[in-house]
Amino acid sequence: MTKKKEENCSFCGRPKSETDLLVSGSNAEICNYCIDQAKLILEEELSGEFQAPDIDQSLLRPVEIKDFLDSYVIGQEEAKKVLAVAVYNHYKRIAQKTDENEVEIEKSNIVLVGETGTGKTLLAKTIAKMLHVPFAIADATVLTEAGYVGEDVESILTRLLQAADYKVSAAEKGIIFIDELDKIARKSDNPSITRDVSGEGVQQALLKLLEGTVVNVPPQGGRKHPEQKMIQVNTKNILFIAGGAFQGIERDIAARLRTNVVGYSFAGLKDESVDKEHLLQYIAPGDLKKFGLIPEIVGRLPVLTYLNPLSKEALKRILTEPKNALTKQFIKLFDMDGIELSFEEKALEYMVERSIEFKLGARGLRSILEAILINAMYEMPSKKQAKKLVITLKYAETQFGSASLAKLKAAI
Ligand code: ADP
Repeated sequence: MTKKKEENCSFCGRPKSETDLLVSGSNAEICNYCIDQAKLILEEELSGEFQAPDIDQSLLRPVEIKDFLDSYVIGQEEAKKVLAVAVYNHYKRIAQKTDENEVEIEKSNIVLVGETGTGKTLLAKTIAKMLHVPFAIADATVLTEAGYVGEDVESILTRLLQAADYKVSAAEKGIIFIDELDKIARKSDNPSITRDVSGEGVQQALLKLLEGTVVNVPPQGGRKHPEQKMIQVNTKNILFIAGGAFQGIERDIAARLRTNVVGYSFAGLKDESVDKEHLLQYIAPGDLKKFGLIPEIVGRLPVLTYLNPLSKEALKRILTEPKNALTKQFIKLFDMDGIELSFEEKALEYMVERSIEFKLGARGLRSILEAILINAMYEMPSKKQAKKLVITLKYAETQFGSASLAKLKAAI
C-alpha cells in the first residue's frame, strides 16, 4: 500500500503537518501563515501609504513639541529642547522631496545620557505619543550578535512592526528607544583582541540599523526559522533614540575638561566656571568613544544630550504635576468608588524622602504610593459610608512602616 503524499501549502511549501490549518481550493492549498501574510499585504494596500507629516500643516514646531513634553516630563529642560529640535528636523527630513541635486539631510538619531529613572524612556515614549507613530523599546543588554544565544538585533524591528499592527510603511517612520546602550560598550580598550559577543559585535549589528538598511524581519520574532516568511523593513526613516546611564563617565569628562583647561582652554571654559557638580552637561561625543562605543556608532547618533538627577523638588512635582501624575491616577481610581482622595503636602514630602533614602528615584514613587494606599484600596470599596480619604503624614508613616521594604524593592 502506498502512503498518501502529504499536502503542502502552494505558497510557502510548508507540509500540512507543520501548519495549524491548510485551506484547500480547487487547484491549490494555502496555510494559516500565508493567509496572515496575505491579510497584512491587503490591509497595507487598502490603507494606502503612511503619509509623512506635512511641514506646513501638521508638523509641530520645536517650541510646541517642548510644550507637549512639558506636560508629561518634569524638568530636564535642556534634553527637552534638544529632543524637540532633533525630532522636528527628523520629520522635516522625511517630508523632504527627494531630488538628486538637493542637499541630503542626515538622520538625527539621539543619545540621552542620565541616571536611571530620570525620564529617558518617558521622553522617548512621550515623543512617540505626540507624533502618533509606532514606538518600541529595546533593551540593548539582551541583544547579541546573530548566531549567539540571546536576541538578534532584528528583533527590535519585530517589536516595532507589532506596535505598528504590521503596517510596514508606518513602522518605517516609527521611533525605537534603545535602552542601556552603555551596557554594550566595548569591555577592553584594545578593540582587536576579542570581538566580545555582547559588546562590539552588537554595536556592529546595531550600526547597520542606524545607518539605514533593508532588514529581513521575522514577523513573530524569536529565532529565524527557515520557512518563516520574512517582512522587509527599511530603517532609513526610523528615528533611533538611545539611552544609558554611562556610569562613571563624569570622570572622563572631568579629565578632559581639566586637560583642556590647563592646555588650550576648552570652548572658553575657565576652571572656575566649570560646574563640577553637574559634569554631564559638558558631555561630548568623544566621551562616549572613551567609554567604549565604537566611533561609527557615535557618528550615527549625532544628537547628544543629558538628563539631570532628579532633585527633591522635581520628585515632588512628578507626584502631582504631569498629565498622568501618580497621585492623579490614584485619585481617579478612588473616585471610581465614589471616594475623594487627597494628599497633604507633608505626606508627599515623606514619600519623596523615602524614595531618595532607598535610592529608588522616580521609579520608587509608585511603589511607595502603592504601599501607603494598599490597605485603603483593599478595605474602602466595601465600606459604604467611606466617602473621603486624606493622606496625612501620620497616615503615610503608619502605612509605609507596615510595608516590607524587600517587597518594595522587588517591585521596582
Ligand atoms: P529612565 O528611562 O531614565 O531609566 P524612566 O523614563 O523609565 O527612566 O522613568 C521611570 C518612571 O519615573 C517614569 O515612568 C515616570 O513615571 C517617572 N519619571 C522619571 N523621570 C521623570 C520626569 N523627569 N518627569 C516625570 N516623571 C518622571
